[in-house]
Amino acid sequence: MPKMKVAQVAKPGADFEVVEREIPQPAPGQVRIRVHACGICFSDHLTKDGLWPGVAYPRVPGHEVAGEIDEVGAGVANWKKGQRVGVGWHGKHDGTCLTCRRGDFGNCPSLQVSGISFDGGYAEYMIAPVEALAAMPNGLDAAEAAPLMCAGVTTFNSLRHAGALPGDLIAVQGIGGLGHLGIQFGSKSGYRVVAVGRGPGNAPLAKKLGASAYVDSQATNAAEELQKLGGARVILATAPNSKSMSSLINGLGPNGKMVVLGAAPEPIEVAPIQLIQGKKAIQGWPSGIPTDSEDALRFAELTGVRPMIEKFPLSKVNEAFARMTSGKAEFRVVLTM
Ligand SMILES: [Zn+2]
Ligand SMILES: [Zn+2]
Repeated sequence: MPKMKVAQVAKPGADFEVVEREIPQPAPGQVRIRVHACGICFSDHLTKDGLWPGVAYPRVPGHEVAGEIDEVGAGVANWKKGQRVGVGWHGKHDGTCLTCRRGDFGNCPSLQVSGISFDGGYAEYMIAPVEALAAMPNGLDAAEAAPLMCAGVTTFNSLRHAGALPGDLIAVQGIGGLGHLGIQFGSKSGYRVVAVGRGPGNAPLAKKLGASAYVDSQATNAAEELQKLGGARVILATAPNSKSMSSLINGLGPNGKMVVLGAAPEPIEVAPIQLIQGKKAIQGWPSGIPTDSEDALRFAELTGVRPMIEKFPLSKVNEAFARMTSGKAEFRVVLTM
């Protein structure tokens, strides 16, 4: 039997181990993907550290997958061998619950997640249900497309549903893995983008990525600075820092909305009056369904939005993961097969 290499977590808290396994066969309704690249997302630590209930170990993480279909299972009609595809967080919905019957697949209570519910993309091959597939345009390099399957679609999709219109002022809090994509998607979508970061260091980069202004939240009161610019229609809160989010709420303009992407455990503090005056809102946003990812990929191909990445071979997965969690890496770390 032909073999493949995968990077698995044997038990919660263990390091990754690269092992050989038999190349699996796709069941009906599934495809096998030859993985070209898989981004390391911060949420992969949920699998690695055993923080997601009910995960069966050993488990191969990875939900920023870019590759090509290498085999199709029985009954798979609309996907072909050789077709380039991506897989993100949305691994499979049941299609039968009330939420799915209403067409809201992303909120399916029995949602399966790639790299958590089944083995993901830290591997040379993976099996994916067709419900998880996003078509990947030819103009995108696999290593650059991979982070768009989670970090990219999360920023793109939350922003496009946040209610801002072209020309409106939006603020992107945090210039990291999510934020550096949020700035690009925002400016390419025709918004006036203000980047909010800590310290002056990221100002040149923020401008290069498309921000028209930079606000240093250490040197100034960032909310007041946003008000001087007219108040933000949307604040994309990407850095997992609840204090920073709380301090920015007063930077929202009338009908403004803070969209919370950075998953910090501490509460966001807000006085009801801050929301009532000016009809403001705070909303969380998880990511998107595969067709949202497809839109994000196409938009990126069309407009030149690209993640800033560092590449590591699969064999260096432990190094790559440490690099990603160190905070010192370029904005996304990608495994290549
Ligand atoms: Zn992710
Ligand atoms: Zn459902």
